[in-house]
Amino acid sequence: METVNANNAGGMGGADGMGGVSRVGNAGHTDNTVKTENTEGKVILALVDGMRPDSISKCGSDFADAFLKKSLYYAEAQTVMPSVTLPCHMSLFHSVVPERHGVTTNTYVPPVRPIDGLIEQLNKFDKKSAIFYNWEELRDLWRPGNVVHSCYMTGDISAGVHYDDSALTDLALAYLQKSSPSFLFLYLGATDIAGHDFGWMSEKYLQAVKTAWNCIERVYGAAPKDCTLIVTADHGGHGRGHGENIPEDMTIPIALHISPETPAAKSAKGASSVKGANSANIIDIAPTVTKLLGVPPVKEWEGKSLIL
Ligand SMILES: [Zn+2]
Repeated sequence: METVNANNAGGMGGADGMGGVSRVGNAGHTDNTVKTENTEGKVILALVDGMRPDSISKCGSDFADAFLKKSLYYAEAQTVMPSVTLPCHMSLFHSVVPERHGVTTNTYVPPVRPIDGLIEQLNKFDKKSAIFYNWEELRDLWRPGNVVHSCYMTGDISAGVHYDDSALTDLALAYLQKSSPSFLFLYLGATDIAGHDFGWMSEKYLQAVKTAWNCIERVYGAAPKDCTLIVTADHGGHGRGHGENIPEDMTIPIALHISPETPAAKSAKGASSVKGANSANIIDIAPTVTKLLGVPPVKEWEGKSLIL
């Protein structure tokens, strides 16, 4: 497989991996040093399955620490019940709680009252979406005919995947080098597997979190300058599992590294004007992505954009 340089020219990151673009920080600090001519914003959403917020500072990734400091970061965002992967992803992509979409286990069932999700809405407004994932149940998150590229790669340990999403990330980076979708979703599943196999917050779980951040760092380095990078999780975990209505399972990180070149930032007269909400929920991610891309939310969506 072709090796992709994480710090290639044109990426969001500078030589230090974090420099070169304007950012909205926790305190609203901005550094408007670089402008590009491209006015069409893009969004990459990287989701690390089962990543607890308190695992990030403990995993030993310097990049993660620096990234969160320079992002609009919600360290106590909430997911939905049940705190299980497919129900949580359905809520993320459709901006409604499981009581509304009806998917309450990891087996997909078509909603009785269907709602257009994020991918359908973006396609309706001619925004191209690409998806990379290594847990096959996610295939039902979007309806056929709405993505320009979807790539499933097994995350099965028995197939030789060792708690590591690097190979899937390689495919996403190779795609990013030749294509520039408006929205790219990268699902990294290895952390959840490590949690189930070794326990949440165990040494091997934390190593998987660090590996996920290494993948995110490479994506950051390869992303276009007008790209907002969002990092989140579907749920947390405790012991050897998750699914309960307790803080360890329900609390997720949501970090937005907002490009000043997004339509939302421009219409607000610069990234420094982009204000964040006080609290965040997983159902807020879809309306945030549409806001960043200048697309209206679906009227049935129940979440709110995290940027104003
Ligand atoms: Zn799990």
